[in-house]
Parts: sequence; structure tokens; C-alpha cells
Amino acid sequence: MTPQPGTLLTSASRYHDISCGHVVWGHESKCQHLHGHNYRVHFHVSGERDAIGRVLDFGVIKDRLCLWLEQEWDHRFLIWDQHPLTAALAALDPVGVVALPFNPTAENMARHLLEVIGPQQLQGLSVLLSGVVVEETAKCSAEVRMLAV
Ligand SMILES: [Zn+2]
Repeated sequence: MTPQPGTLLTSASRYHDISCGHVVWGHESKCQHLHGHNYRVHFHVSGERDAIGRVLDFGVIKDRLCLWLEQEWDHRFLIWDQHPLTAALAALDPVGVVALPFNPTAENMARHLLEVIGPQQLQGLSVLLSGVVVEETAKCSAEVRMLAV
């Protein structure tokens, strides 16, 4: 359903900081090399407000989404499963290397979090992960939003 103009959308948001290595396959300059970032990931959760006026308790965003990041991506090396170095790196550090089905640009990371991880982690709740912002640095970020909720 496409919201009508003027329809209010209420979101609750929380961010989490993680440190990851990554490499961007096909990048024209320095991001083609193995390197890392201190990422800040913002989660925006939308839905109806409950009886006391919350979309979702901020602690639940932490438990369901921030802790997923902490457990799955923090202090790991993110690499596309099609990258030529994936097998060699994974052999060196099978736990530390996370082979992803996409090239780990900030844009693709945000989309994966919104489309795959959000629905998985918020299952059973009547809210939707409607936006994700992935900051690679304080100056550079990528954002993905769900337009119709
Ligand atoms: Zn990078």
C-alpha cells in the first residue's frame, strides 16, 4: 500500500558502531585493497505506536539488530563470495572471514540489512525495519529506505 501524501510515519531509531575489514571488488582506487572501517549503522524501525506510545522499545532494537551486528560482522572481514581472494582468506581465518552474497559496499550492506536481516530479526513483531544507514566514515554513508510501509 502506498501511503497518501501527508500520512505520518513514526520510526524509532538506534545506531551501533562496529569495526570491520572489507574489500570492494572492482573498485577503481584504494577500496580495491584489503582495508577496514569503523562503521556506524543506523536502524530505523517503523510501525504503529503501542499503548504507551512506542513503535518499539529502543532496547529491543539493540537486542534484535545491534547485537546481530555485534555477533555477525563486528571485528570480521567482509568479502564478496565471488571475490578471487575469498577462499584463501577464509582458509586462513574461517571464523573471521564473512563471505557475503554481494560486494560489501556500504550501499549493499545497507540493503542486505534492510531486506534480509531486518525481517529475520524482527520476526514476530508488528514493526518493520524501514531504513538503514551505513556510515563508512563520519563524512560518507549510504542509506536505503522502504518507501511503502
Ligand atoms: Zn572501504
